Amino acid sequence: MSQESDCLFCKIIAGQIPSTKVYEDDTTYAFKDINPKAKVHVLVVPKRHYGNVAALAKQDPQELSHIVEVAQSIADKEFHGEYRLVFNTGRDAGQTVFHVHAHVLTGEVLDE
Ligand code: IMP
Repeated sequence: MSQESDCLFCKIIAGQIPSTKVYEDDTTYAFKDINPKAKVHVLVVPKRHYGNVAALAKQDPQELSHIVEVAQSIADKEFHGEYRLVFNTGRDAGQTVFHVHAHVLTGEVLDE
């Protein structure tokens, strides 16, 4: 799996930094956000490193689609299939970790 030596989420995927795993398969890893913004706040990431969702969409659209499926299955389990899915893209949009990640916010009624 392609890994960037300086990437926090590559290190989490490799088990070098601890995380609370929610889901894992061959291509995808999901874990609890350390600073949750909703009752359930999970980050879903491809194991392969892409800097943001646009790069992922261009280089591996099937994985992007799979990430949405994983988000849906988390929300099916946690909150009758309803959730907010966020990809912050770029520093000025609030992206702080440059390994693409879907924020899955669910588990409660969310503010608009
Ligand atoms: P961004 O701001 O969209 O890039 O989201 C990065 C997210 O990663 C934030 O919601 C952080 O709370 C979360 N985060 C940062 N470090 C860790 C960690 O070590 N474990 C789990 N989540 C983390």
